[in-house]
Amino acid sequence: MSLVERDLKVIWHPYTQMQTALPPVPIVRGEGACLYDENGKKYIDAVSSWWVNIHGHAHPYIAQKVSEQLKKLEHVIFAGFTHEGAVELAERLLKILPPNQQKAFYSDDGSTAVEVAVKMCLQYWHNKGEKRTKILAFNNAYHGDTFGAMAVSGRSAFTAAFDSLLFEVEFIDLPNEGNIQDLKSQISNLKSHLACFIFEPLVQGSGGMLMYEAKYLNELMTHCRQEGILMIADEVFTGFGRTGKPFACDHVTEQPDIMCFSKGLTGGTMALGLTTCTQHIYDTFLSNDRLKTLFHGHSFTANPVACSAALASLDLFLEDSTLENIKRIEESHRQFALKIKDHSKIKTTRQTGTILAMEWETGSNTSYFSSLRDTLYQYFLAAGIILRPLGNIIYILPPYCITNEELAYIYAKIEQALEEI
Ligand SMILES: *Cc1c(COP(=O)(O)O)cnc(C)c1O
Repeated sequence: MSLVERDLKVIWHPYTQMQTALPPVPIVRGEGACLYDENGKKYIDAVSSWWVNIHGHAHPYIAQKVSEQLKKLEHVIFAGFTHEGAVELAERLLKILPPNQQKAFYSDDGSTAVEVAVKMCLQYWHNKGEKRTKILAFNNAYHGDTFGAMAVSGRSAFTAAFDSLLFEVEFIDLPNEGNIQDLKSQISNLKSHLACFIFEPLVQGSGGMLMYEAKYLNELMTHCRQEGILMIADEVFTGFGRTGKPFACDHVTEQPDIMCFSKGLTGGTMALGLTTCTQHIYDTFLSNDRLKTLFHGHSFTANPVACSAALASLDLFLEDSTLENIKRIEESHRQFALKIKDHSKIKTTRQTGTILAMEWETGSNTSYFSSLRDTLYQYFLAAGIILRPLGNIIYILPPYCITNEELAYIYAKIEQALEEI
């Protein structure tokens, strides 16, 4: 039996309608920005394997560090115990985050990093004896698939089966020049109930690579600060260079109270989540009263092997060549966007840092719209490129080590698709 046949007998894949989905592609190895299947066919990973990979696949330096760690210490309970990797990673990350970030709480992935952040905010008010239980979020937000993370995400087809069970969240539109004053007064009207405001800074990934300007985010943050509303910046997707700066919050002057990280944190090598917060939030949990404890933890909290992958990834991230690569991709995307933006099949293009999104014209035909996504996906897969459109939106966000030749090949295939589809 082939690997694919064995897979279909036992596996249920994520975000996949198993009845109609085409069989999965059996990948056997990765190198640089590329993945190779059983038959040796090469695929350029233009979506960084669901946005996690930043330095390329099977990076030898990360592999070496992980393997050294595995032989020394694979895991230890993190309540009552500690280890070098967890401490060093927190020390080094806090140094490059906004200076008000002072404490690090580990978890397993992006969703759990968000769960921890939301629980910190809700319990912050609980510990202070104030009843503030509502959360403010953006329409079309995506913060993860566990229940709390789903609750603070926009209501959509993804959440429909659970909507009646999700806790109450106030949703506002992304800010722009026209609505910023109105958004501020909406927030002021709600403020006495609001525990926190959670947002994806600058780019809403799953929402369709929707982008908004740093200056309006900054204005909203300043307003929340004045109104005493805690702020959670969910940098699970935008962290580690995606937006052209190390973190999306580096584009604003206001500092969030809490930040969430995962995806690029380990260079895409292993699952690891991290929530950082201010000294002030941390201090609100200090007490002789045990009930003020943050009762949260996962079996694999601060797993030493995952921490070693994150430390190795951080070494690579801080090399000059990585920043140069990010700048190179930014510039290359900009040139390509200019070239295709007036094509009759392109509705709009938008770019933030290494993320380039192109909205395909769909006309008014909605059935065409729903099949377009699959057509595009298959078209690029056949051409040896992994692009996973979100509806009619194609986006490229490659590992930073992608070569100019590989980028040029992706662009050429998109131009060809514009003519052929
Ligand atoms: C992917 C994502 C998450 C969820 O992370 P998982 O590791 O998939 O649980 C949360 N927030 C944002 C902004 C994301 O893009």
